[in-house]
Amino acid sequence: MDCIFCKIVRKEIPSSIVYEDRGSLAFLDISPLNKGHTLVIPKNHYETIADIPEKEIGELARVVRNVAIAVKKATGAPGINITQNNGRAAEQLVPHAHFHIIPRFGGDGIILSHLKKKYESGEMEKTRVKISEAID
Ligand code: 5GP
Ligand code: ZN
Repeated sequence: MDCIFCKIVRKEIPSSIVYEDRGSLAFLDISPLNKGHTLVIPKNHYETIADIPEKEIGELARVVRNVAIAVKKATGAPGINITQNNGRAAEQLVPHAHFHIIPRFGGDGIILSHLKKKYESGEMEKTRVKISEAID
């Protein structure tokens, strides 16, 4: 598979691995938002979160939690963001599903909430119903 993260899994290209088990790998992001920014991936190639089988996501979530706790402890960050991009529109650049674990420090200049939108009257309930009905 010609995928940069699959190559990292197979150790064909170097990475700074912080955790590895049978199904998961965690390594430092090469261009961190803050130092200690870590990526957690399934070893199997799945493009987005929707492609990860339900029976595998629980184990991956456990690893994300444990790595997030470790990143917080090791960096001394008072906060942690866990983000996960799906699709080009959501700024997913590497098409192998991954979770970002980003240590956050007060005044670090990263503002994730500054582009929030407003609902028109009735729109919030319509949106709630649509999403609720779309859940399998
Ligand atoms: P995305 O935008 O797809 O959610 O995030 C992909 C992340 O992978 C980016 O933050 C980028 O810095 C990181 N990345 C891309 N190529 C490499 C690489 O070869 N090695 C490592 N360690 N990280 C990478
Ligand atoms: Zn891959």
